[in-house]
Amino acid sequence: MAYIIDKEKCVNCGYCEFVCPFSAISALDDYYTIDENKCVNCAQCFDACINCAISPGIGVKRIQKVEIISENCIGCSLCKRFCPANAVEGVIKQPFTIIQEKCIKCGVCFSKCKKDAVLVVYR
Ligand code: SF4
Ligand code: SF4
Ligand code: SF4
Repeated sequence: MAYIIDKEKCVNCGYCEFVCPFSAISALDDYYTIDENKCVNCAQCFDACINCAISPGIGVKRIQKVEIISENCIGCSLCKRFCPANAVEGVIKQPFTIIQEKCIKCGVCFSKCKKDAVLVVYR
């Protein structure tokens, strides 16, 4: 599951490549394409595309909110290390928190946490 670029609509501006925090987008001859093995469905490219050429693939759900459940968090910092937006803060061995204003809702912290301490709410 990944976002998809409609090559008929893509005007080859490259803005999606610029905004993708996961280097999942690259140029082909006259349009851009998304590597589904790298895409985490954060929708940054979808929001940025000037020509509405990007859409979610079948089954892709958008995240509304991501939170850390402090009771489950052991303060290992895995989520913080992988967050592309520097949106996680905390002190080792104490519960971490997500700065909502910075969070781009990519869900990477959810996929990295080994303690079920990240709660994802979908739209
Ligand atoms: S949805 Fe996110 S990870 Fe996937 S290509 Fe777009 S910006 Fe990159
Ligand atoms: S990865 Fe999980 S347990 Fe580790 S600091 Fe983040 S939320 Fe807490
Ligand atoms: S969802 Fe998690 S990893 Fe992604 S930006 Fe928000 S805090 Fe960082």
